[in-house]
Amino acid sequence: ALTIGIVGLPNVGKSTLFNALTRAQVLAANYPFATIEPNVGVVPLPDPRLATLAGIFGSERVLPATVSFVDIAGIVKGASEGEGLGNKFLANIREADAICQVTRVFEDSDVVHVDGEVNPASDIETISTELILADLQTIENQMPRLEKELRAKKIEASFIETVKAAQKVLEEGKTLFAGAAAAKVDLEEIAPLQLMTTKPFIYVFNTDEAGLANAEMQAELSALVAPAEAIFLDAQFESELAELTEEEAAEMLEDAGYAESGLDKLARVGFETLGLQTYLTAGPKESRAWTIHKGDTAPQAAGVIHTDFQRGFIKAEVIGFDDLVDAGSVAAAKSAGKARIEGKDYVMRDGDVVEFRFNV
Ligand code: GDP
Repeated sequence: ALTIGIVGLPNVGKSTLFNALTRAQVLAANYPFATIEPNVGVVPLPDPRLATLAGIFGSERVLPATVSFVDIAGIVKGASEGEGLGNKFLANIREADAICQVTRVFEDSDVVHVDGEVNPASDIETISTELILADLQTIENQMPRLEKELRAKKIEASFIETVKAAQKVLEEGKTLFAGAAAAKVDLEEIAPLQLMTTKPFIYVFNTDEAGLANAEMQAELSALVAPAEAIFLDAQFESELAELTEEEAAEMLEDAGYAESGLDKLARVGFETLGLQTYLTAGPKESRAWTIHKGDTAPQAAGVIHTDFQRGFIKAEVIGFDDLVDAGSVAAAKSAGKARIEGKDYVMRDGDVVEFRFNV
């Protein structure tokens, strides 16, 4: 499964956020395929459509899709003093599919800031700089080999040109995720180099009640990190929420005037950032969301349920979620002409409620 690595300077609230994530974790009993490890938090992707489907189909249970967060510990203690990041840390980041940096916005004189003051922009730069330097090092290490391969005509000159263009972006102090588009660097082309700053970034700004109501501060920080996503949450509040029952948590959120929890937002944005989407299945046993990549075809989607479904794929019977809800039942949707038969080239859409037909 794809994972999001959580990083950040010391004392910004990473552990607090990660504790909240592990408290909100899905029950392993329902997800036997999810490996539950101490540094991994597997949280449900909130999807209110599942409860609606469960109502229509009389499902015994709902199974949301999940998003996996990895706590990449052992950071940066020395990063701000120029000691750089440990190799273990870099190896862990390399394995993650997206990077989520937790940044401190909250003021609290009892909690020491490593740099002596709360300054999100500088925290972000500290970590970006280390990752950028590591990528530059990778390019420098690879260049002699690439030039040799070019002379042996094993690679094209254009590949080296792209690597050099990437190098230039990095030398300007930008991550490739932020700077590649403007510099017309094709990230797919240089994927074999496994540069870390090509991964999508998400920024979690750990703030307090006042910060959550401060639209101006949020707009400023969002602009600072664009095109990366910015999420504003209160990690302490989230960890308290995650201890409550679903009903209690909903009440506490409503009392505080928030439409959704920060963790739910993080799960949603994380899932989206990983390039994932879901489709839905429903029946008396369960209503369930299945994770696929954006752009996946119907047979690929079927393969997520079982490889046999992909191999023996015949067709998919698809009803859009909204059409199904409007009609009230599969039979009614069918007689209203809202059920579609889709073949092997069909590209799945968000909200498809699907039944696959296949040969075994
Ligand atoms: P980490 O080093 O990044 O993992 O940070 P921790 O999660 O251990 O948090 C460091 C300290 O800051 C702890 O004492 C937390 O209780 C406190 N802390 C974390 N989040 C918040 C917050 O939103 N507000 C305040 N005031 N303190 C927080």
